[in-house]
Amino acid sequence: MTNQETLLRSRDQNLKSFLMQRIAQNGGWVNAHMHADRAFTITRDSFDIYQKQTLIEKWDTVDRLKSSMSTDDYYRHFSMAIERMIEQNVSAMGTFVDIDPICEERAIRAAIKAREHYQQDITIKLVNQTLKGVIDKEARYWFDKGADLVDIIGGLPRRDERDYGKGAEHLDILMTTAKRLDKMVHVHVDQFNSQEEKETEQLTDKTLEHGMHGRVVAIHSISITAHDIAYRQALYKKMQQAQMMVIACPFAWIDSPRREDHGPTRNALTPVDELSQAGIVVAIGTDNISDYMLPFSDGDMWEELKLLITGCRYTDLDNVIGIATTNGRRVLGIA
Ligand SMILES: [Zn+2]
Repeated sequence: MTNQETLLRSRDQNLKSFLMQRIAQNGGWVNAHMHADRAFTITRDSFDIYQKQTLIEKWDTVDRLKSSMSTDDYYRHFSMAIERMIEQNVSAMGTFVDIDPICEERAIRAAIKAREHYQQDITIKLVNQTLKGVIDKEARYWFDKGADLVDIIGGLPRRDERDYGKGAEHLDILMTTAKRLDKMVHVHVDQFNSQEEKETEQLTDKTLEHGMHGRVVAIHSISITAHDIAYRQALYKKMQQAQMMVIACPFAWIDSPRREDHGPTRNALTPVDELSQAGIVVAIGTDNISDYMLPFSDGDMWEELKLLITGCRYTDLDNVIGIATTNGRRVLGIA
């Protein structure tokens, strides 16, 4: 064997090429969670604002940005995000879309147009972002309007919990609407890597209560790892009963700030190792791409998968391939 042949063979056997090959054989990547409407909206100049502002100030900045974007602007940003996915052999993606008093129907109209334009290249499932909650009267008006236009009902109970102490009611509204429209539900939960959060459990309880078994997907579920093993095992059992599924977005909260809390040693990643062991379907998503929330995230699927499996010391390669491909289709309701 020549040196060249040895080199080629060792390249064939490296883990990344092995996984990339299997992912392609399994129908290609699935990016199960993103916010394509705001993708690539951060620039070198606006990065200075990002550095200086608190999270609360950032919400106002995002509102200003959204109110300045026309349907054409939204279409351009959607297209950039979609092409970023197509170039990596992503076969399907699920994206949240802002439908609220600030951007009204501009983002969703652009999303529907972009989905049609790229329909030969990629399957796109649209989900409504409820950044303004569903309790406030005006926010509820846009939620109801959005629910009819999207494929999957999206949620963010933290918003209504913070403003009104009504996180549970937020979930009731999502589930009742989803049942009426026969749609799945995707909810942002347990994002802050904190013992104070038990949102995955709350979402699981609501899933059981509404009989939505197998139709509800938790996004993030990071704070599960802030609780002890007895809590986690009991939760996984309940999640299995509700046939809950989870989407991990590894880069999204890796910047979780250092805190003085005590608890299990952990990082800010979805515990894919324990969830998969418990028989719970886990998929992967990029979340925000190069915007005010995640300025350095560039939507690279391999980087996301690498971080997840490295950070969780996850070594079940067959399931890793599933996470990148078939599990993504399941959480998006693609047969
Ligand atoms: Zn998100």
